[in-house]
Amino acid sequence: PAAQVARTGMLGRLFSSTPTIAEPRRELDDVMLEELEEMLIQADMGVETALRVTANIAEGRMGRRVSATELKELLADEIARIMTPVAKPLPLYPKRPQVVLVVGVNGSGKTTTIGKLASQFKAAGKNVVIAAGDTFRAAAVEQLQVWGRRAGVPVMTAPEGADPASLAFDAMIRAEAEGADLLMIDTAGRLQNRQDLMEELAKIVRVIRKKDPSAPHNTLLVLDATTGQNALSQVETFQKLADVSGLVMTKLDGTARGGVLVALADRFGLPIHAIGVGEQIDDLDAFDAREFARALVG
Ligand code: GDP
Repeated sequence: PAAQVARTGMLGRLFSSTPTIAEPRRELDDVMLEELEEMLIQADMGVETALRVTANIAEGRMGRRVSATELKELLADEIARIMTPVAKPLPLYPKRPQVVLVVGVNGSGKTTTIGKLASQFKAAGKNVVIAAGDTFRAAAVEQLQVWGRRAGVPVMTAPEGADPASLAFDAMIRAEAEGADLLMIDTAGRLQNRQDLMEELAKIVRVIRKKDPSAPHNTLLVLDATTGQNALSQVETFQKLADVSGLVMTKLDGTARGGVLVALADRFGLPIHAIGVGEQIDDLDAFDAREFARALVG
């Protein structure tokens, strides 16, 4: 089904592919709606959202004959309507430093996203500091240092196993002293140890607030599009662990179907600040609702 969607768009099988002079039309009836629903679910949109989108398309149109082009437009409009309110770049505040806590499960793309964001903000003339808060994974710290060098941004580290909260505190002091505009703090993503993780994040927040009661100003949750519907439960979990203020969806290049973003927007309404579209430093795009809707519909 994923390959099918990739080849022909999610409406591929709804209309005959035989080329004719006039575009074929089909009556919008229960059978067609059911097929449409099934396709939206296969595109990772989730049952609830697929049902709602289908119902909205059906409203006032039952019995009408529609072409694939018309149906695509209706669908793209519905998706864009859901996505437009959440398409918001990371807000920048006059507060110095603006503290951005970055959370998410290991492998979701936190390190990469921090590197890409740092590079974009640096290019925009912002003074950025990164804190490698996942002190338990030496590889993650090294990786973040690599990204820091690429972006031309200092990365604060602590010895393996050190307390991430004290690193965060030191990073606050350094960022303040340097007049940094932004401090991005990476965190651990060991979900198998939920209680520990919750305490660790809470402690980081507590310590940051000692320096600045208004911090963290953003808590970014990084999600991997290839995990499909699992992304929904990750949002629920991380909302319990931290005060998630916005999302970045990675790995929307390749075969990920992306429909899960519609489900996320529909269910949580959290801002989508950016999308990852590759492994290189420039592969982070602003989220454009209409463009996304059009690409998803195919
Ligand atoms: P972390 O464990 O959450 O810090 O995840 P990493 O940043 O180390 O990313 C895990 C893997 O996903 C790495 O191999 C990255 O290159 C890859 N990755 C991250 N973002 C993207 C993306 O947008 N597209 C693709 N194709 N790969 C990505």
